[in-house]
Amino acid sequence: MRTPLVIGNWKMHGTVAEARVLSTAIRDGLKRPRGVQVVVCPPFTALAAVSEILGGGPIQLGAQTCHHEPAGAHTGEISVPMLAELICRWVLVGHSERRKEIGESDELINLKTRAVLSHGLTPVLCVGETADERRQGLTFTTVEGQLRAGLAGLTGDQIAKTVLAYEPVWAIGTGVNATPAQAAEVQGYLRGLLSELSSKEIAQTVRILYGGSVKAENADALLAEPEVDGALVGGASLNAQGFIGIVRKAARIGTAAKE
Ligand code: PEP
Repeated sequence: MRTPLVIGNWKMHGTVAEARVLSTAIRDGLKRPRGVQVVVCPPFTALAAVSEILGGGPIQLGAQTCHHEPAGAHTGEISVPMLAELICRWVLVGHSERRKEIGESDELINLKTRAVLSHGLTPVLCVGETADERRQGLTFTTVEGQLRAGLAGLTGDQIAKTVLAYEPVWAIGTGVNATPAQAAEVQGYLRGLLSELSSKEIAQTVRILYGGSVKAENADALLAEPEVDGALVGGASLNAQGFIGIVRKAARIGTAAKE
C-alpha cells in the first residue's frame, strides 16, 4: 500500500505575507490529515516563514529546486543543508520549467537527486514529454531517458527513497490534464523501468505522482487510477480551499485502500 502524496508547488508566486496566509489556511484546514501525506513547496524567500507556521506538524515543507554542492561559490544558489536547516524535507528535481527555462540537463538533475538523498531529504524527480514528443510517438522514449539519467548510479535503497512525478509538459499550467488512462499508461511504464533499475519489490513501494492541471474537479478520476499515487499540483495549490479539496480526495482513496 503506497500512501497517497499531494504536493503543492507554489512556483514564483507570493510575497512572504501571502505565503503566511496561504500556509496558515492549509494548516488549519487540514489539522489531522489521515490516509494522505501533504507537502507544500513555497518560493525560497518564504520557506522560513512557512516552516514556522507549519511548526513540524503533519503538513511538510518542500523546496522547488536546490544546488547539488553543499556550499561554495555559487552565486544565487541554495544548498540542501540550507534547506534542511529550515526543516525542509522534500525537494522537486527536474521540473520541466527548470529544464526548459534554466536549461537543466539530465546530468545536473542526477547530481541534484544524489545531493538531496545524501542529506536525507526526499527528491521528487519530475519527468514528462512535450506535446511534440507525444505527437511523434516519443512519450515513452522521453520519460525513459529522463528516468534512467535522473536515477543513474543510485542504489536500490536510494531509489526506494525517491518519489517520481509524471508531468506531461503539455498539461502543466494549460488547463488540459492528461486523461486518467494516459497517466496510468505512462506511470505503469515508469514502474516497469523502476523494477529493472532496482527490484520488483522496491518498484512497488515507490510513489509515482501525476502532475499537470490537477484540480479538485479532476482529482477523483486521476487519483482513482491504481498507478497514480498522488498529485503534484501547481496553480490549484495557490488556493487553500482548492488544494484542501484535492488532498481530501486523495485521503479518501488512501483511507479506503487501507480498509
Ligand atoms: C506543476 O507546477 O508541477 C504543475 C503541475 O502545475 P499545474 O498544476 O499548474 O499544471
